[in-house]
Amino acid sequence: MAARPIDGKALAQTIRERIAKDVSELHTRTRIRPGLAAILVGEDPASKLYVKNKQKACDAAGIYVDEHKLPASTTQADLLALIEKVNADPKVHGILVQLPLPPQIDSKIILDAVSPLKDADGFHPYNMGRLVEGMAMFTPCTPKGVIKMIESTGTTIAGKRAVVVGRSNIVGKPAALLLLHQNATVTVCHSKTKDLPAVCREAEILVVAIGKAKFVTADMVRDGAIVVDVGVNRLADGTFVGDVDFGPVSEKAAWLSPVPGGVGPMTIAMLLDNTLESAKRSAGML
Ligand code: NAP
Repeated sequence: MAARPIDGKALAQTIRERIAKDVSELHTRTRIRPGLAAILVGEDPASKLYVKNKQKACDAAGIYVDEHKLPASTTQADLLALIEKVNADPKVHGILVQLPLPPQIDSKIILDAVSPLKDADGFHPYNMGRLVEGMAMFTPCTPKGVIKMIESTGTTIAGKRAVVVGRSNIVGKPAALLLLHQNATVTVCHSKTKDLPAVCREAEILVVAIGKAKFVTADMVRDGAIVVDVGVNRLADGTFVGDVDFGPVSEKAAWLSPVPGGVGPMTIAMLLDNTLESAKRSAGML
């Protein structure tokens, strides 16, 4: 039987409608409007599109966007000065620095300079540390969305065998931690993992985030698994596919997220959610 789709687009829309309602209620009660500083450096077309989509979603939810488009020649000192400014701005509750940054700027230094209290992406070491403790103030958007997608299937994560393929700081590691906090038994795989197909076949929940088109094939998937495909890969013909070989895998999995229309829209919804939560915290409501 073909897998049921985990429709990230529809789920994100429902979440965004709830956020819009919450934003309006927060504003009525406190006169506080959640604000996101969106910082884009350079002209990378994909980054420009990501920021535009995030901005549109904020506008629709009633979240104020403090937009900063800087030239590719921006120095690290100039960007640090801007971060300092938005850190201190009471209208800003979340800060998004779109990655990648140009080579003259050290991303680590910039992300570390973002106030941990406004770290809507959840990349600051303070928030990473809290995530390890299971006390996250800001949870990184993509893994947070992945968990909501898994929950939307109605499955109980506790006790499940989960495999995460990919160990980046922004997706794989936090996704594994979130699954662990929900009492899954978690294995994290990477490029040095031996017999990856066999490990993947153990997964009742399989999260794939490696950035290799159609890498996970049907023989790597357990019958009835829940599969979340985080990958976004552009093919030569300009179309986008995930890390999972969608057609054949959908014949084996019980649930499978599509690309596009899966994790991407959820990542944006979670950025809005993190910004709203931060504004509520600043109002003493959380
Ligand atoms: P990344 O930083 O490049 O990390 C890739 C991970 O995959 C690494 O841990 C790497 O292992 C592992 N890997 C690479 N080749 C492998 C192989 N053959 N077998 C097993 N593991 C392998 O990537 P990322 O930032 O996590 O992103 C992953 C994908 O998700 C990309 O396609 C990205 O575009 C997409 N993404 C989507 C969203 C969204 O909102 N939809 C958000 C973020 C990322 P090593 O550590 O051993 O090198």
